[in-house]
Amino acid sequence: MFDNLSDKLDKALHVLKGHGKINEVNVAETMKEVRRALLDADVNFKIAKDFTKRVREKAIGQNVLTTLQPGQLMVKIVKDELTELMGGEAEGINLGGSPSVILMSGLQGSGKTTFSGKLANFLKNKKGKKPLLVACDVYRPAAIDQLHVVGDQIQVPVYSDRGNNDPVAIAKAGIAQAKAEGNNVVIIDTAGRLAVDEQMMDEIANIHKAIKPEETLFVVDSMTGQDAVNTAKAFNDILNFDGVILTKLDGDTRGGAAISIKSVVNKPIKFIGTGEKMEAIDVFHPARMADRILG
Ligand code: GDP
Repeated sequence: MFDNLSDKLDKALHVLKGHGKINEVNVAETMKEVRRALLDADVNFKIAKDFTKRVREKAIGQNVLTTLQPGQLMVKIVKDELTELMGGEAEGINLGGSPSVILMSGLQGSGKTTFSGKLANFLKNKKGKKPLLVACDVYRPAAIDQLHVVGDQIQVPVYSDRGNNDPVAIAKAGIAQAKAEGNNVVIIDTAGRLAVDEQMMDEIANIHKAIKPEETLFVVDSMTGQDAVNTAKAFNDILNFDGVILTKLDGDTRGGAAISIKSVVNKPIKFIGTGEKMEAIDVFHPARMADRILG
C-alpha cells in the first residue's frame, strides 16, 4: 500500500536525506517534488499546496539550513506534518451507552457489511464485548443474507426482519433485542447506493435521528481517490459522523484519501480495512501511517 506515494516522497526527500549540501534552492525544489508526489497520490490540490507551505515555514522557523543534519530534520518535519494532516493522535470509538449503538453509513460496495462484521469480531475478541449485528438494508435480500453469513462466521448474532421495509423500525427492534438479550454493542448495517442520492440520504438521516447512535461511522473505499473525499463530505453534511473507516487499503490504492479526508471533513479515520477476511482490520494510527508512507 502507498508504494507509489512512498517511493515518490522518498525520491523527493532523497537529496535532503543524504549528506549532500543543502540550500534554499534544493529545499524549494524538494518541496515542489513532495507536492507533486502528493498530487499524484490523489491528494486534493489545496491540501497539497498548504502542506508544502507549512513544511517550508516550519523549516525556516527551525533554521533547518544551519542545523547539523538538515536533511533529517526536514524529513522529520514532513513526517510530523503528514501525521497532523491525517489526524494527529489515534482516536478510539465511543462505547458508552447501554447498549452502545454504532451506525454504519456509506455507499454500496464500500465495504460496510464486511466492516460491520470485522468491527463486531474486533470488539468481541479484543474488548470482551457482546455485539449484535442488525441488518437494515430493506432493498437487497442478499445484503441480509450476507450479514447472516458474516455473523455465523464470527459467531455473533444477527437481527433481521425480512419483509419489513421500515429500516427505522428494524433498527429500533434490533436495539430492543440487544437489551433483552444482554448484548452491549449494537452495530447497524444500512443500505447504500452506488452514488449519493436523496432517498438514501433521507433514509440514513431518519435512522440516525431516531436511534441517536453513540457512534456514527462512515465507510469508504480508499480506491475511489478524490471521490472518496466528495462522498465523505456529502455524508458528513447530513450525519455529522464521528469517524471514517477506510477500506481496501490492501489494494492498489494511491492513498490520497487517507491524507485528504481528515482535512476536508475534519473527522478522524478510526479504522482501516486491509482485506476481505474478518481479521483484516486495524486501528488507524496517523503516525504509523506517516511512517509507512515515508518509508
Ligand atoms: P457494502 O455494500 O458496503 O456492504 O460492501 P461489502 O461489505 O459487501 O463489500 C464489497 C466488496 O468489497 C466485497 O467483495 C468485500 O469482500 C470487499 N471488501 C470489503 N472490505 C475490504 C477490504 O478491506 N479489502 C479488500 N480487498 N476487499 C474488501
